[in-house]
Amino acid sequence: MSVTAPAISSFLPPQRTLMGPGPSDVPQRILDAMARPTIGHLDPAFTDMMEQTKTLLRYAFQTANKLTFPVSGPGSVGMETCFVNLVEPGDKVIVCGNGVFGGRMLENVKRCGGVPVLVEDAWGRAVDAAKVEAAFASHPDAKILAFVHAETSTGAQSDAAALAAIARKHGALTIMDCVTSLGGTPVLIDDWSIDAAYSGSQKCLSCTPGLSPVTFSERAIEKVRARKTPVQSWFMDLNLVLGYWSGEGKRTYHHTAPINPLYGLHEALVMLAEEGIENAWARHRAMHEELKHGLEGMGLSFLVPAEERLPQLNSVILPEGIDDAACRARLLNEFNLEIGAGLGALAGKIWRIGLMGASASRKNVATCLKAVATVLPA
Ligand SMILES: *Cc1c(COP(=O)(O)O)cnc(C)c1O
Repeated sequence: MSVTAPAISSFLPPQRTLMGPGPSDVPQRILDAMARPTIGHLDPAFTDMMEQTKTLLRYAFQTANKLTFPVSGPGSVGMETCFVNLVEPGDKVIVCGNGVFGGRMLENVKRCGGVPVLVEDAWGRAVDAAKVEAAFASHPDAKILAFVHAETSTGAQSDAAALAAIARKHGALTIMDCVTSLGGTPVLIDDWSIDAAYSGSQKCLSCTPGLSPVTFSERAIEKVRARKTPVQSWFMDLNLVLGYWSGEGKRTYHHTAPINPLYGLHEALVMLAEEGIENAWARHRAMHEELKHGLEGMGLSFLVPAEERLPQLNSVILPEGIDDAACRARLLNEFNLEIGAGLGALAGKIWRIGLMGASASRKNVATCLKAVATVLPA
């Protein structure tokens, strides 16, 4: 034996206020749920909880889709699950790019052997429906439209209903990223006829990271069943995962579900149902108004035009001459407050202040306004 035991003791994290692009503050009630006894993942008590989780997720997504469940993995795994199942080699996919996450969709299409058609909009703006319509006119053989509903990298929200209607008119399926919108602003899967959508546990659902709720329409399932080539990923192949999440009465082993994190998601979704999803949307909107009022009072302005702005992700433009990293370090060290930095071309130019889930509270807004007023020079 040459490696001796390291003298490291238990990790005690600091108590932060999380107002970045995710994770958001996790209520103690959810952490308590996760500390309950671990049971077997094929235990009937556990599978009953899985069924309840599916029912609760249908409420969150506003859908009757049977195939609605949490993928074991972060939002990025939910994203890959949608793309690897729906995109077959040679499929033409129109991808809307107006930020970091649209870029990841593009990357997914390429890796699945799809033929991407990129529709680009400026970072900080919503997807332009007229450009999508034009892309379908030049590519009538496009099989899928992929777009990000709520671009967390910029704080812009796109008109999902309008985009999905264009896809439907041209006989294409839709894949929608609603990682940051689910639970924060309306996500109406059935009303909008979205075919595949993925989200994340750690944004407006206020659970810990690591689970990705997904939902698939019957049309999407038909496309997966009609594939000529097998899904390249064994782990994410819906045909196999289905036996685990939907094997009525006789579930078969696929992978060991993350038992305790799923208790947490179940609790988060119970809390959403108790609050009422319309009330959750209204709370995010109201907290955004309060934060905006305070920030504008300090002379700060927003990156995204008002009508395209996400209430749960506020991109504010940094005044000239501000040391971005030093200010955020002060927020963290003096106020235990985490906010997000700008990404890509927006690095050093904006701050991203999240009001997601439990973080969309009066207390957090007050903490943030006080802290920002202290670190920014008058
Ligand atoms: C956070 C986020 C993701 C990725 O989720 P992870 O859990 O970090 O993998 C994808 N899309 C959007 C819009 C996000 O905000």
